[in-house]
Amino acid sequence: MLRMTHWMTYGWTTDRTTGWWLPGMLLGILLGLSAAAPGRTPPADVLFINGTVHTLDDRQPRAEAVAVRRGRIVFVGSTAEAMTYRGPRTRLVDLAGAVMYPGFTDAHCHLFGIGERELTLNLEGTNTRAAFLAAVAARVAQTPKGEWIVGRGWIETFWTPPTFPTAAELDAIAPEHPVFLVRADGHASVVNTLALRQAGIDAQTPNPPGGDILRDATTGQPTGMLIDRAQDLVRRLLPRLSPEDYARAAMAGAQRELSLGWCTIHNAGSSLLETNLLRRLCRTGAIKLRVYNAAANRPAEVAALLRRGPIIGEANGRFTMRTIKAYMDGALGSRGAALLAPYADADTTGLFLTPPDELRALCRQALRAGIQIQTHAIGDRANRQVLDIYEQVFAEVPPAQRRVRDPRWRIEHAQILHPSDIPRFAQLGVIASMQPSHAISDLHFAPRRLGLERLAGAYAWRALLDGKAIIAGGSDAPVERGEPLIEFYAAVTRKDLTGFSGAGWHPEQAVSRLEALKMLTLWPAYAAFEEDLAGTIAVGKRADFTVLSADLLTIPETDILRARCLMTIIGGEVVFRAQEPTTGNSAPAGTGSGNQPDKRRAPQPHNWRRKQVGAAGRPLDAGVDHRAKQSPPQPPAIERF
Ligand SMILES: [Zn+2]
Repeated sequence: MLRMTHWMTYGWTTDRTTGWWLPGMLLGILLGLSAAAPGRTPPADVLFINGTVHTLDDRQPRAEAVAVRRGRIVFVGSTAEAMTYRGPRTRLVDLAGAVMYPGFTDAHCHLFGIGERELTLNLEGTNTRAAFLAAVAARVAQTPKGEWIVGRGWIETFWTPPTFPTAAELDAIAPEHPVFLVRADGHASVVNTLALRQAGIDAQTPNPPGGDILRDATTGQPTGMLIDRAQDLVRRLLPRLSPEDYARAAMAGAQRELSLGWCTIHNAGSSLLETNLLRRLCRTGAIKLRVYNAAANRPAEVAALLRRGPIIGEANGRFTMRTIKAYMDGALGSRGAALLAPYADADTTGLFLTPPDELRALCRQALRAGIQIQTHAIGDRANRQVLDIYEQVFAEVPPAQRRVRDPRWRIEHAQILHPSDIPRFAQLGVIASMQPSHAISDLHFAPRRLGLERLAGAYAWRALLDGKAIIAGGSDAPVERGEPLIEFYAAVTRKDLTGFSGAGWHPEQAVSRLEALKMLTLWPAYAAFEEDLAGTIAVGKRADFTVLSADLLTIPETDILRARCLMTIIGGEVVFRAQEPTTGNSAPAGTGSGNQPDKRRAPQPHNWRRKQVGAAGRPLDAGVDHRAKQSPPQPPAIERF
């Protein structure tokens, strides 16, 4: 019926403009009546029934069923009413009490990095030095001698003691393989002695510009730790990635995203090669994830996008590109973030990676061409500089001279803000694209870098929302683990994964559960100009859904990380379905704070099998209630509509 109402609305408008409004209205009423007659509702392609549906739509916040036709939502409401959309070929997906949300969006991540982490040695969640070394040793045992061991994802701050790993530790387990293991944040790596030797690095090697070869204080020998640009000395020796490797990385990354419940990602900067590959993979259906892609701020990439203009909704809504990713400053950990006053623990105020005049010129061109700008800014000086540039350019290029009047420019991270700059986000219509997990990782060392006073404007979600700004939530994976439940947990608790919260962590900056859900759904949709298509469960929108084992609006805080993704649905197609857990261990997931090394293998404490696996998501061709059955888990169904 809702659909007919839409039709009638169109009929009215069209007919009124042509003077044929009365017959049009009558026809509309007649059609409306006939559609309401039993058995005449156009059948849906798929029905999702018996769930708890959080629509995030204020007009109808809760429902239990959704009907989908041609990839769009045609009905939201009760299971009984949804069943009137059932035709002979309609698929039924019994949610069996599972909880459905609008499809989650990661508003900032790096798909190729995520994929690379999957394809090489994934060290995320190695929560002890022993676990880290054991993972490396296991890979060494499977790798022919002399071949590189490459990995990423370790974070020493979770280890006891929290000190960097060393070449000597790696030599003990990998004497005959060169080893290169990147820290989670990408700003440092540890290598073994064989790798140092192959790279020609010894006690006499000078530090390269922008890099540091860490050395033993007494012997002067390299410890194996390479910081920032020093990593390139070894990285250039690694086997080169072929286009096939890139494709495999993108597909592995996309598959991981789907398994975590992400329906859409905003890919924060890609080369021409990566862009072309992503477009192709989206077009052929090899990648089912929706990708909102940004071009890296490099001459060829920028020229190509400005020349071609925005690409919107290509590959059946899978691929959009209308954004350039720029950098204002560096990162807080390595003291590259640009601060208004010097660091509390060093005599520096950080640095700008892009000269402000250069960014301003880019912004001017982009605003005229209808291209969105997203600029990385961590420190308060960088954030102020970006806001200043946006403000100046908005004033210089009035709406009439813009291809897109409301540009919705973004600041990525927006981590440390001077309190006087917080209201400027809403005033200028600038979107804060923030990663809650950064707060709970960085607040372990941010007080040392900034001192307690400056933390008032750090990761200031509550203040931004109170100032009417929009926050698009994301993970920055593979810098962080990239799991929606970790981002949600961090946003609502502002505690690390063990429940710790220290001095200066400002618990009052946490957000409500509903706000945290909007950070992962509606607000990223707005940041991508897609709020009419995505972000809530409402008639007419894309049928993108994330189905979880738990109700994030009501479960105790400590259970949030125990929830898991049961199904990911894009355009009405179930693109991921969880498999049955393999063991009975019930420890919660974690990023490296002493919990499970890998959430995807961490089973659930409640009787997941009985409640979910038997029926959840298995397309049933008859309206039989399968909830009580103990069916074996099904392989992920790949269905096309
Ligand atoms: Zn990033």
